[in-house]
Amino acid sequence: MAYDKSIAAFEEAYKVIPGGVDSPVRAFSGVEGTPPFIQRGEGAYLFDIDGNRYIDYVQSWGPLIFGHADKEIETSVIEAVQRGLSFGAPTTIETELASEIVTLFDSIDKVRFVSSGTEAVMSAIRLARGVTGRENIVKFTGCYHGHSDSLLVQAGSGLATFGSPSSPGVPADLTKHTLLATYNDIESVLKCFEESPDGIACVIIEPIAGNMGLVPADEAFLEELRCLCTNHGALLIFDEVMSGFRASLSGAQGISSVKPDMVTLGKVIGAGMPVGAFGASAQIMAHLSPEGPVYQAGTLSGNPVAMAAGLTSLRKLKSNPSLYVSLGNKAKKLMDGFKKAADASNIPFVTDVRGSMFGFFFSDKPVRNFDDALENDTARFAKFHKGMLDRGIYLACSSFEAGFICAAMTDEMIDETIKAAYEVMAEIA
Ligand code: PMP
Repeated sequence: MAYDKSIAAFEEAYKVIPGGVDSPVRAFSGVEGTPPFIQRGEGAYLFDIDGNRYIDYVQSWGPLIFGHADKEIETSVIEAVQRGLSFGAPTTIETELASEIVTLFDSIDKVRFVSSGTEAVMSAIRLARGVTGRENIVKFTGCYHGHSDSLLVQAGSGLATFGSPSSPGVPADLTKHTLLATYNDIESVLKCFEESPDGIACVIIEPIAGNMGLVPADEAFLEELRCLCTNHGALLIFDEVMSGFRASLSGAQGISSVKPDMVTLGKVIGAGMPVGAFGASAQIMAHLSPEGPVYQAGTLSGNPVAMAAGLTSLRKLKSNPSLYVSLGNKAKKLMDGFKKAADASNIPFVTDVRGSMFGFFFSDKPVRNFDDALENDTARFAKFHKGMLDRGIYLACSSFEAGFICAAMTDEMIDETIKAAYEVMAEIA
């Protein structure tokens, strides 16, 4: 495949945009080659400016459950655009989308819309602190909750130690209230509680982690976490920015019996438009401005065009209950195929699937937390990624990201992808 135009475009972008991209992972830093510059998408396919066509397993990092340029979503967006891009005033479509979300999530009575996942989580944490009157929060190493200051904390070696900033520009004062625990390890959470005499405002977790590769939390671990939070008066926040509407129609909560106190949602409710949301019981949400004292706001929050895209997408999902079964079967077929391809070349490989999300590691043991994930063979992943890209298969450009199936993917596309995986595995063995 030729990438000449993308290479030139990347050089041009580099002159005026840091690293040539508006979000770091897009720069292909962890893999080989230049990121293809995208011209358009159609269903499951992406087309780059060199005219290459790819089967897209990234789907804009999750939001596009129906694939690119879905006609019904496109029509609702065009109609919304024709009515006006933004009003900064209440619209009934916000209530319509909020009502759909409230119906789907048992743990949500009320929801507020924002414009990104980062904003949703940042606001939820502020609300949790405001409600409990406590400052410390617990997050898990390897879970990503957006780039707001107090959540940009790297994995420390010691358990339950106070975090240190993972980026220059984040004052230690802002991250000292963020305690780190190990995913799927309840003892590490217990330690955070023990080391925090003034209490913990909230524990935030991706119930199905998708930002260290796909690493689901064990049901027993979530149950213990729920108990621990309840016993200590800490709020449990499920960050479902990625798993919401992806793992099931009601996210990870649809396949787990554990219910959180607060939920953050994001990209998937916007179907590709910039949206985020956070929700909880009416009692918790009553602390939020203007009902309560915890301040939170946004000029473009509840943007009517984004709401239109989200509402159409959600209603399409609701009207097709068997969709998740078919998406899940395709994800499973893909991962089984990759596993067999790896086995055929004697390459250590593990996979997992949750709903329409899938993940794999070049590793010889199951991955249950970030330390396990770090042990995967990233150099081999980089070669695999390049081999697949050259065969028209667009996978996430990092071994620490989940992959996504969309409704426009056919069994033939999955077969084509598995065939490519056999060839590439043989090359990189
Ligand atoms: N939380 C989770 C679980 C995410 O996956 C992401 C984005 N990958 C975010 C928060 C941040 O969302 P955004 O990029 O829209 O700010």
